[in-house]
Amino acid sequence: MSQVYDRVALIGLGLIASSMFWAIKRAGLAGEVTGYARSEATRDTARRIGLCDRVCDTAQEAVEGADLVVLCVPVGAMGAVAKDITSVLKPGATVTDVGSVKRHVIQAVGPEIPEGVHFIPAHPLAGTEHSGPESGFAELFDNRWCLLVPVDGSDPDAIARLRALWEGMGSNVDEMDADHHDLVLAVTSHAPHLIAYTMVGVADDLRRVTDTEVIKYSAAGFRDFTRIAASDPTMWRDVFLTNKDATLEILGRFTEELFALQRAIRTGDGEQLFDYFTRTRAIRRGIIDAGQDTDAPDFGRGKTTP
Ligand code: NAP
Repeated sequence: MSQVYDRVALIGLGLIASSMFWAIKRAGLAGEVTGYARSEATRDTARRIGLCDRVCDTAQEAVEGADLVVLCVPVGAMGAVAKDITSVLKPGATVTDVGSVKRHVIQAVGPEIPEGVHFIPAHPLAGTEHSGPESGFAELFDNRWCLLVPVDGSDPDAIARLRALWEGMGSNVDEMDADHHDLVLAVTSHAPHLIAYTMVGVADDLRRVTDTEVIKYSAAGFRDFTRIAASDPTMWRDVFLTNKDATLEILGRFTEELFALQRAIRTGDGEQLFDYFTRTRAIRRGIIDAGQDTDAPDFGRGKTTP
């Protein structure tokens, strides 16, 4: 794989940025990768583990001269971070991000991008419940989708270059508009996370069982919920605050379906339950056939899954 950018700057050095760094290095996609994180502790850790060719003490220093700047901070912090670096962006450079919500990022970051700099939002559909500079690994994006969400007037050459970077990091790349992205992700990621948080919260409320049976006899269904519900609180707070409409729309539908199933249980309508579960089983089959999860009975727990 050949070099796509001379200089890449990663702003925020958590799971996604650190995975990007290792994936960029694996394939030799950039000449130099600089990095910046707001806390000294994270910058120290990054220097200790060799994360980034150069770790800078300010975002501006990391961004100076970069051909690609990747904002890898929680969605709610994107606007402030963009404002901080706007004056040092190199003409012709591309600014992108990895945020889980796109409409909000476009509204917050877009106005900070100066004339002559490209802005191409993106979202890798890959992650784990771990966070921080030590949680990343080069294979995170392998065979996962990365959605590019070009804004009006995005330069085709700049899009093609960013696509080449993500493909070089192992991803399959698609393009999508921001509102559609936010709705799709509300279904596939945001609402499921909220449901997992709720289920684990319910178990925790039942203190009588939590302290003993829930943990000791934790079955696969609940264990999977706890893994998802261990995800970073800041990131997920920001996702729900910034993808409000789509999440509420999907939760409304979810609640209706839940009531329907609740009623089927109460009335003993086994046929409805059986038909429903047959339909959902086919969706699982489709995900496995598409190579987006393994068929292992432990849900691939031996490997890292997003
Ligand atoms: P992470 O591991 O928690 O790292 C977040 C980074 O952002 C840290 O370096 C942190 O700095 C910095 N940061 C936090 N709050 C900030 C603020 N207010 N201002 C400036 N910097 C701040 O997060 P991540 O999982 O890599 O997520 C980064 C982005 O990727 C988020 O927008 C998220 O929505 C998106 N994303 C996440 C996943 C996932 O599964 N985790 C998947 C796809 C996309 P310190 O370390 O100095 O505190």
